[in-house]
Amino acid sequence: MKEFKTESKRVLDLMINSIYTNKEIFLRELLSNASDAIDKLKFISLIDTDVNSDFKIVISADRENGQLTIEDNGIGMTEQELDSNLGTIAESGTLNFKKENADKTDNELIGQFGVGFYSSFMVADKIEVYTRAYKSDTAYKWESNGVDGYDIEKTEKDTVGTKIVLTLKKDTEDFKYSDFLESYKISSLVKRYSDYIRYPIITDVTKSRRKEGTPDDKPEYETVTEPETLNSMVPLWKKPKGEVKDEDLNEFYKNEFHDYANPLKSVYAKIEGAVTYDALLFFPSRAPFDYYSKDYKKGLKLYSNGVMIMEKCEDLLPDYFGFVRGVVDSSDLSLNISREILQQDRQVKAIASGIEKKISAELKKMLEEDRENYEKLFNEFGLALKFGAYADFGMNKDKLKDLLMFYSSKKEKPVTLAEYVKEMPEGQGEIYYAAGESYEKIAKLPQIERAKEKGAEILFFKDGVDEFVVKVLGEYDGKKFKSVAETDFSLDSDAEKQELKEKNEQNKDLLGEIKAALGDKVKEVRLTSNLKTYPVCLIAGGDISIEMEKVLNSMPNADGSVKADKILEISSTHKILPKLQTLYKEDKEKLKKYATVLYEQARVLEGLSVSDAAEFVSALSDIM
Ligand code: ADP
Repeated sequence: MKEFKTESKRVLDLMINSIYTNKEIFLRELLSNASDAIDKLKFISLIDTDVNSDFKIVISADRENGQLTIEDNGIGMTEQELDSNLGTIAESGTLNFKKENADKTDNELIGQFGVGFYSSFMVADKIEVYTRAYKSDTAYKWESNGVDGYDIEKTEKDTVGTKIVLTLKKDTEDFKYSDFLESYKISSLVKRYSDYIRYPIITDVTKSRRKEGTPDDKPEYETVTEPETLNSMVPLWKKPKGEVKDEDLNEFYKNEFHDYANPLKSVYAKIEGAVTYDALLFFPSRAPFDYYSKDYKKGLKLYSNGVMIMEKCEDLLPDYFGFVRGVVDSSDLSLNISREILQQDRQVKAIASGIEKKISAELKKMLEEDRENYEKLFNEFGLALKFGAYADFGMNKDKLKDLLMFYSSKKEKPVTLAEYVKEMPEGQGEIYYAAGESYEKIAKLPQIERAKEKGAEILFFKDGVDEFVVKVLGEYDGKKFKSVAETDFSLDSDAEKQELKEKNEQNKDLLGEIKAALGDKVKEVRLTSNLKTYPVCLIAGGDISIEMEKVLNSMPNADGSVKADKILEISSTHKILPKLQTLYKEDKEKLKKYATVLYEQARVLEGLSVSDAAEFVSALSDIM
């Protein structure tokens, strides 16, 4: 027996003991898999005429043995595919499994992994998969009770395709698993979840029928069992717009893209023009666990006249809209289109550009009309939009800048740049921001205090990319971006400015001595009236901010060589200043130690690490 991987085991355990309320969705998952497998073989059948093209999915129930069987004549699986497809769950995500899921409920966890094949363990004690791959003479059987592991062995199977046999759990007081063997239940589930699957889903239905030839006044009935196609088979996007309900779209989305939650928004577009196509687009309610990793593959499912030609056509979505899921069906695409040709294909380009415009328009509409959901969406995918604005030297910044949101110190929630600018008081010429690791930490930055006191609205930049985005944007609506660290909020009048200038002048020698003690660590030491309670702060003197230094040095290939030019600012009103003045006169050696301690303190306040721990500790203990 082969063992499941550890994390797979945990997920299986969740499935088996799941209180997941929608146990019935296992059928939807198996039918979708069957349909996908047929899609693949149907595509081959266009070239290989030997393939039997009477595609169908058959569900049969064996009440005596408590078994439900789902059989398709799709592409099947090789031994190796059986092993890798059904032996591991979400392998790519295992690394982050523990960390990310500590606070999730079972339902969320199940959703996170895509419910898929394993959801069958919610209703079955044992699963057997018999499968024969296209072009293979050998068939294999995979068997598992979900708990310990699985076995794969050779078996007999006459035809290409996959047959899945579920031995259902015994009925309990709370749940009647045997219902799934009743044809009324099977047909209602197929109608509800899988109606638009494009291949017939057939099961034996038992009906009572009037016996032929029996008289009207004395009719006699007989029970017959005959195969019946349960689904209507019209793809959702081929139905007239008015007939498609939100529920249908939601079901379709969950079915097709293995999400357990409804999408935040569904978009149904029928485009007629130079290229004619139908598109169903969905904005998911949460990012897949691998969304921000390189394992995530964006793309839309591409059909040519109802035949699926590509599972994920990347070229249909720009990276920054990579979170959008959906299908596109066009009658203008040639069927034998290959991956390479696709990229240059004029039709595909035209569709991609239409889709991008549509997504963009729908997002703007959502922002205006459905703020709550837009904020949810931005919370999940906003980072992708920000990266999009910054990437390629800001090539797409104008398309994206109105979709961005940043946390406002004043509103205590995300706002758009347009909203910020609209609320700017008379006389404020710039958009203020402050960057840090978290909102809490930014709120405690020394420079923030004064700005808040003055009632300034500040955008808090918590994502590493934020400052890079505004560097690329340069301005919004004619207003430049300005870090609060570089802004003097304390000075209202020219007289105050003059006073600070004089103070700096008077303390020139002292400040010079401190600068000399710190050497290359700082570019300048000066007094500020910007600080309220803190004695010191560090600000950037050049193009690279302190937050950018942190971000750039934490990149995978960084060697730590990026350094922001730093200015040490000392509060002109703090009682440390007279102390420093005294030391300058009486004890220059001790002043050096004070300089070290103040500098390291300022680093810590900025969220930087102490630059020289040994020197810092010895200076501090000497002073004490
Ligand atoms: P998902 O469908 O989300 O990829 P599943 O756990 O449902 O996850 O299935 C895993 C994989 O097993 C599928 O991607 C597919 O390659 C394979 N598979 C499942 N069912 C079938 C089937 N009926 N025929 C052929 N391959 C299948």
